[in-house]
Amino acid sequence: MSYPYEAPVSQELFDRAAAVTPGGVNSPVRAFRAVGGTPRFMVSGTGPYLTDADGREYVDLVCSWGPMILGHAHPEVVAAVRDAVTRGTSFGTPGEGEVALAEAMVARVEPLEQVRLVSSGTEATMSAIRLARGFTGRAKVVKFAGCYHGHVDALLAAAGSGVATFGLPDTPGVTGAQTGDTIVLPYNDLDAVRAAFAANPGGIACVITEASPGNMGVVPPRDGFNAALKEICAADGALYVSDEVMTGFRVSRAGWYGLDGVRPDLMTFGKVMGGGFPAAAFGGRADVMALLAPAGPVYQAGTLSGNPVATAAGLAQLRLLDDAAYARLDAVSAGIQALVTEALSKEGVAHRIQTAGNMFSVFFTDEDVRDFEAAKRQAAYRFTPFFHSMLAQGVYLPPSAFESWFVSTTHDERAVERIAAALPAAARAAAEARA
Ligand code: PLP
Repeated sequence: MSYPYEAPVSQELFDRAAAVTPGGVNSPVRAFRAVGGTPRFMVSGTGPYLTDADGREYVDLVCSWGPMILGHAHPEVVAAVRDAVTRGTSFGTPGEGEVALAEAMVARVEPLEQVRLVSSGTEATMSAIRLARGFTGRAKVVKFAGCYHGHVDALLAAAGSGVATFGLPDTPGVTGAQTGDTIVLPYNDLDAVRAAFAANPGGIACVITEASPGNMGVVPPRDGFNAALKEICAADGALYVSDEVMTGFRVSRAGWYGLDGVRPDLMTFGKVMGGGFPAAAFGGRADVMALLAPAGPVYQAGTLSGNPVATAAGLAQLRLLDDAAYARLDAVSAGIQALVTEALSKEGVAHRIQTAGNMFSVFFTDEDVRDFEAAKRQAAYRFTPFFHSMLAQGVYLPPSAFESWFVSTTHDERAVERIAAALPAAARAAAEARA
């Protein structure tokens, strides 16, 4: 397709980047491969807005894939970071900031009795499954197709294809040995979970699931799904590991746990808790966490874990996330969803908006999307012109039809009006798209 406008400075930067970095990016989805065109190189952000290297401003509906829940450069977060930076950026020793952040997390999420800080969501899930294996003495891990838990070797058997179902690697470089103990099941399918447990008696260390998946688009658990997972795990002696890297502290004060109340044995966090810095965590039952080094024999470590600048940013952000903030996020999200539905319906475009708290995504389909296979059946070709029309009109959406949209507390009336103004043309472009 042709793109509605050029971005010459971003293109120049992308060309430079491609010479020194594979694909020109440091994380694949940033490269716009799913939608084509030139990825925008951002130079600054304020509140709900991003400004790119060509000087164009966008309403941001990605929010750094979730972390920027208070908008960009929130004054109190910036002040906390400034204050921390002036006192030194890393000590390689314990520090009060990491204690305060852990205390704040434990105070908000009741099943989180103890927590260990790490630097990325990938590290958090990798460490959680190592700990689950160490605790249970079992090898196998159940995960669901379409759930993303970072680029942990054992969890990359994920694409939902028949190959993945048998635990074979999806990615060159990940061996069959690394994924051989991974059982990939269709999401929202309790019969498949029960069958996997029946086929592997006493062999499954844990079930890891996104608390409410957002990485195949937003596909929430059916009523009772997480509770049943917990029950099946408990009955077998396996651990229920809830990945809240995306939902944690985003969809409520206590993340998805705050909405469904199903008590995980272990949980993982990232994104919001780092305030835009590399901070993540895993935690849960104290008797399980007691196995971690140096308290116990399961090794886990990190030079920059609990970094004082990252913990200061995360703590400042969490302190501002009170009930009023979540009410505002829910209202902003619902308002934008209504505008999207209105515009697409007016053009007769089949679609479903699915939500998980204030997270939502738009599927170009007329079926309820309950698993990865259904997500893939959507008319994703409609998303590309929709995306580019929004981009050309100054609205930055996730550059893929299989991602959640994220709002911040700073998405005010002006920002929402700009989204509203852009939607009719984008909906028309989606309607005119041909497979
Ligand atoms: N788990 C979930 C649910 C995620 O959404 C992500 C990232 O998007 C990760 C884990 C991996 O986190 P990170 O990108 O910080 O390694």
